[in-house]
Amino acid sequence: MQNNDIIETDVLIAGTGVAGLFSALYLSPDRRVLIITKEECEHSDSFLAQGGICVLRGMEDYDSFFEDTLKAGHFENSPAAVHTMISSSRAVINQLVAFGVPFERENGNLCYTREGAHKVPRILYHQDTTGDAITSCLLKEARKRSNITIMEHTTMVDLIAEDNHCYGAVVRLKDGTLKSVLAHDTILATGGIGGLYSHSTNFPHLTGDGLALSLKHNVALQNIDYIQIHPTTLYSKKPGRRFLISESVRGEGAILLNAAGERFVNELQPRDIVAKAIFKQMELDGKPYVRLSLEKLDREMILHHFPTIYERCLEEGYDVTKEPVPVVPAQHYFMGGIKIDLEGRTSMRHLYAAGETACNGVHGANRLASNSLLESLVFAQRAAFDINCRKSHISDTAVKLAKAVSPEQYADGEQLKKTYREQVLAAIETEKGHKNHE
Ligand SMILES: Cc1cc2nc3c(=O)[nH]c(=O)nc-3n(C[C@H](O)[C@H](O)[C@H](O)COP(=O)(O)OP(=O)(O)OC[C@H]3O[C@@H](n4cnc5c(N)ncnc54)[C@H](O)[C@@H]3O)c2cc1C
Repeated sequence: MQNNDIIETDVLIAGTGVAGLFSALYLSPDRRVLIITKEECEHSDSFLAQGGICVLRGMEDYDSFFEDTLKAGHFENSPAAVHTMISSSRAVINQLVAFGVPFERENGNLCYTREGAHKVPRILYHQDTTGDAITSCLLKEARKRSNITIMEHTTMVDLIAEDNHCYGAVVRLKDGTLKSVLAHDTILATGGIGGLYSHSTNFPHLTGDGLALSLKHNVALQNIDYIQIHPTTLYSKKPGRRFLISESVRGEGAILLNAAGERFVNELQPRDIVAKAIFKQMELDGKPYVRLSLEKLDREMILHHFPTIYERCLEEGYDVTKEPVPVVPAQHYFMGGIKIDLEGRTSMRHLYAAGETACNGVHGANRLASNSLLESLVFAQRAAFDINCRKSHISDTAVKLAKAVSPEQYADGEQLKKTYREQVLAAIETEKGHKNHE
């Protein structure tokens, strides 16, 4: 590559969801930070989060929060990661409030809601658009910072790495031009893998690119067969992203009904158990859905707490204040990912990962509702603090590697996408096979 195709920065972050943005905001102001995103900034799963974000209500809640997280995760969680997440939760929420996140309040006090597998209400929310409320505040703050540059419609297509040391990434701009971004540290915050599946609540451009590049460069992965199916997405014959009906609707009293109009499961069990029960019921009923009834919820409460869900169901022809809606499970969340330690470090030097693409075992085999935003924020911030501990510089090796990048190997973008997609799906299947033989 020519000199004018090389961009230098201190930290490169791939992804503008909560993980990418929060880490950027905690990097020292003297670092040049470049954040890239495949589409516009508002197109990330972080904007879609509905139910809310967990927080430790007080020390008396610690054991219960810890136990709920481990129980949902089938006790495969990393206790150290769970402890770090829970004990950092109040500080992170205070920082969000300082950034202006408008959590629901009554008489000035924060309101808490409940979701499946939580013993007590410990979830903060803003209507049914909590992710939008949080992420838009973080984005607004990032846009104010003079050391942060955001490039939209810019896709990371490879890492620049040698001898297990990351020096940045090769990126493709909207017009197809390729650039080498050289960075002292790189953070992969590329989100989930829903784009690999035909029925998912995720944005379709989230195709596990961080995982594909980790596979290519032998960066360690963990639990990549742990994929969460959400029990209740709105049933629709139309193709495209599935619309989620948040678990907090069930937390507030909605019930699941079979074709005969009878309840068939305790709706507040962990997601994997409820999803299994729904699949079984669909088979028994011979129908592609079951129904979710909000009849026990007050109409005013539905309109105030769940306005988006109400509107969206209405668009599909269902008034949730009057009738049950058809729901079906769909791919929702990725518990596995790029293996990280508690500081967000991957197995490659100067390469970090944060958010849904990363895995330090905090969720075990199944994520507890509303722990994802919290986990993303806590460990993204820790990665930033770790990066701040060391001096940043661009080495001669980095420049040499950038010059050696040959754009021809990335010329066929569609083929590259197909290859990465197939490799990630194959790796997931291989991991499933290994676990079945253990
Ligand atoms: C419908 C829905 C509801 C949810 N509700 C909740 C909830 O109530 N509570 C909760 O805790 N969690 C919830 N979640 C999960 C939570 O929203 C996500 O796990 C979390 O937001 C992930 O944040 P992230 O920053 O890791 O990824 P994302 O927010 O998905 O961001 C990923 C970013 O990476 C970028 N990217 C991907 N590949 C590349 C590439 N190759 N080059 C450049 N950029 C790239 C994308 O463009 C995007 O900017 C929900 C998820 C969904 C889908």
